Amino acid sequence: MKKHNFSAGPCILPQEVFQEASQAILDFNNSGLSILEISHRSPDFVAVMEEARSLALELLGLQNKGYKALFLQGGASTQFLMVAYNLINKKAAYLNTGTWSSKAIKEAKFFGDVIEVASSKDKNFNYIPKSYSLPEDADYFHCTSNNTIFGTQMKSFPATSRPLVCDMSSDIFSRELDFSKFDLIYAGAQKNMGPAGTTLVIVKEEILGKVSREIPSMMNYQTHIDKDSMFNTPAVYAVYVSMLTLRWIKSKGGLKAMEKLNHQKAELLYAEIDRNPLFKGFAEKEDRSPMNATFNLVNEAHKEVFDKMWKSAGVNGLNGHRSVGGYRASMYNALPLESVQVVVDLMKELEEKV
Ligand code: PMP
Repeated sequence: MKKHNFSAGPCILPQEVFQEASQAILDFNNSGLSILEISHRSPDFVAVMEEARSLALELLGLQNKGYKALFLQGGASTQFLMVAYNLINKKAAYLNTGTWSSKAIKEAKFFGDVIEVASSKDKNFNYIPKSYSLPEDADYFHCTSNNTIFGTQMKSFPATSRPLVCDMSSDIFSRELDFSKFDLIYAGAQKNMGPAGTTLVIVKEEILGKVSREIPSMMNYQTHIDKDSMFNTPAVYAVYVSMLTLRWIKSKGGLKAMEKLNHQKAELLYAEIDRNPLFKGFAEKEDRSPMNATFNLVNEAHKEVFDKMWKSAGVNGLNGHRSVGGYRASMYNALPLESVQVVVDLMKELEEKV
């Protein structure tokens, strides 16, 4: 039986994608060859890479606006340093909203001064700081749109004349935004986009080439742009499955449709967290993430019973991250509303039971 998968990433992907992706391992495009054994320079794979790059820009509304889409390796964690390598001359401004922002800050410090414009560390990152000012002489401003561990999401982004860089690993393709406000967006594929192994980078070409340091080829965005994201062997299968998922998002109605369903799922779960006296939400209400809902039991004594209940109901991945404890329900694009209903029913059942 297929489980209700609330895993934070790698995570649920559409069932149709799993089917098509598994078929391509046996016979890709009726070629008599597996996608795993063909050259990345073969026309069949080049077409996959080109479709993936172009769908990514299309879904974000960024076609013909000076942006390039790249599928790189090394995870979002490599972007923490690559962003700084390519963009810092003297100093950059960072908003610290959690573990991943902190890690991005740590890497940027290898390349220049980092100004932490605000941090929500004082409350274990359960909110998004709102009032801060951005230095107008920073080389860029970096933020994390969705904080996977703490379950907070930025609903708006500050206006700045400086390049805006955003780690969108855990909410890319989940909602409509004016993406043209951003100059560089990066996201590990393994949430809404595909399997682990590739990282999407969307970069406005005009912000590059402005630093004085030499940049090694693999670390240089321009290298990957010039080689159409094929400077070295790409993560062929991860890019292929990402391409299938992007096709699926488009066929379902794009980001508007994704946002609508994600909103319904989040409303359903957060309403129960707020109603049920046995549970309390972790994140500040106005900053709650529709992607990752974090919540705790009011009385830890109920943990054993509740854990047994959801595990035997076929629910997977509901345990909270160790820095928050309790529970985290990750509700990425491919998670159906019915799975959320299952968890909500279990929460109600627990209330009746104890
Ligand atoms: N940023 C965010 C917001 C994340 O959620 C994660 C991974 N969960 C990362 C960065 C790190 O990604 P990777 O493991 O691909 O390096």
